[in-house]
Amino acid sequence: MDPVQDKTIESLLKTISRISMLAEGNDPELDTTLQSIRGNLGRSQNAEVVQASLKTLEPLVLKYDEDRLSRAQTFRAKLLELLDVVDDLPTTQMPTKAKKSLEADIRKHWQTSSKWPELLSKTIQLVSETLKQQSSEKNSSLLGRLFRRKTDRMPTPENNSEIMTHVSHTLAALLTNITLPDIYRDQLMDIKHALTGSSDINHLPALLDEVITLIMIAVGKTQEDLTLYLNQLNQQLASINDSLLANYKAQKSISSHRKQLGETFQDHVNNTKSDVHNATDLNSLKQLINDRMHTINEAMTLFQNSMQEQEKQAAKSITQLKNKVSRMEQDATQLRSSMQEKIAQALSDSLTGLPNRAAYQDTIFPLLTSAAQNKQQLCIAVCDVDHFKVINDTWGHLTGDKVLRLVPRQMQTALKKDHLLFRYGGEEFVVIFPMTSLDQAFEHCQNIRNAVASTPFNMNGEPISVTISIGLSLFDGKESHDELFNRADKNLYQAKQQGRNKVIRDN
Ligand code: GH3
Ligand code: MG
Ligand code: MG
Repeated sequence: MDPVQDKTIESLLKTISRISMLAEGNDPELDTTLQSIRGNLGRSQNAEVVQASLKTLEPLVLKYDEDRLSRAQTFRAKLLELLDVVDDLPTTQMPTKAKKSLEADIRKHWQTSSKWPELLSKTIQLVSETLKQQSSEKNSSLLGRLFRRKTDRMPTPENNSEIMTHVSHTLAALLTNITLPDIYRDQLMDIKHALTGSSDINHLPALLDEVITLIMIAVGKTQEDLTLYLNQLNQQLASINDSLLANYKAQKSISSHRKQLGETFQDHVNNTKSDVHNATDLNSLKQLINDRMHTINEAMTLFQNSMQEQEKQAAKSITQLKNKVSRMEQDATQLRSSMQEKIAQALSDSLTGLPNRAAYQDTIFPLLTSAAQNKQQLCIAVCDVDHFKVINDTWGHLTGDKVLRLVPRQMQTALKKDHLLFRYGGEEFVVIFPMTSLDQAFEHCQNIRNAVASTPFNMNGEPISVTISIGLSLFDGKESHDELFNRADKNLYQAKQQGRNKVIRDN
């Protein structure tokens, strides 16, 4: 062999030996082979020996190359996966631009292992920033973003006020339908204002007490069923309050779960950062990233499960609450109509269908107050059927009843629409003439008296004339009701004295 060739081979062998050193440290089997090759190369400069050594090396190098490719692929896939997982967390928003640029970097350099530490460190930094930003956001945002759709149905304080509005409007409507003596007017207004003006459910028990008191006054204290109903209502409200409280507590516990999750994430990120700094080789880094992702996933799953459970509970409670409120509403509607019926019954006379003496009392007091305040004139007429006892005695009680039904019908033909007719008792009727002078009222009374007197009543086939006597008085603006009524009654007595079928007025 010529010396030039020898020199070339020698330097080639040296180069192979050095390059083989570079390749060391990646695979134990490869390392052993490389060491033996280097031994052989040192000992002999025989081309056959060199060839044989290189032949042993070839499959190992190929295998190493494959392993390296697969490692690089795994590395690339895991980094991209980590970015996606963190970006997909319902609680986070990874900056899109930063993510895109990092992904491009990863796709470009994934095969260059010397670039891996840099790629890894960039990834960790972006993940860490994203998670940090999430945990520093306000508490509400996490819950808000996690369960934005569901949150609408959560029992928030707004729901409380919604329920309060519902309940208080129902109660206010209830109050609108009761009739109370005039002295309760201000109290009634106050409660209605308080009911419609308050959205704080804590005011409800006190307001309810007041409503109960007023309703008791309106329908009379003997209404045991009302008391019973209102007690039930009270219990229902108490139970609604309990449910709200429970929901509120459940919500608080969601908040603390959420905080915990944020802290767990932050811990993981911090640990990962310090571990990455301390890690020396790529395999342990890879393992580390895998472990962290696993832990984060686990924490997330736990959190989501517990959230779902809480949500289920909350939805259930809301349904129960809604049912309770709608039951209350039904009960209230029933009570309202039965009360209206009772009130109507209590205020009307069953024989004639006219408003009775109680209705008269309810009506005359507010009218007198307003007439006095507004300086308006008001008259009352007390009307009594003449010789009614004789009718009863001659044709019997049933015929008497028939006359009592027919007389007010005749009277009504002569009444104007503002005039108010009541059956005061027995065969006595009272007419209120609001905003009417004594002269006008006197004329109306004459018409009323005539309307009755001019109509023959059919008594078992016989046309019999029935008459009424009327005592008329004008309210003087200062006197009490009793004074006014007594004067009218005295005038009626005068009418009887002067031969009946007459109208006598104040002089
Ligand atoms: P005067 O002209 O003085 O008023 O004589 P009168 O007979 O109408 O007066 P009195 O007060 O003596 O008699 C009224 C009678 O009316 C007595 C009572 O039995 C009768 N009466 C009261 N309420 C009813 C009722 O609802 N139905 C019937 N049929 N009679 C009644
Ligand atoms: Mg009488
Ligand atoms: Mg009479």
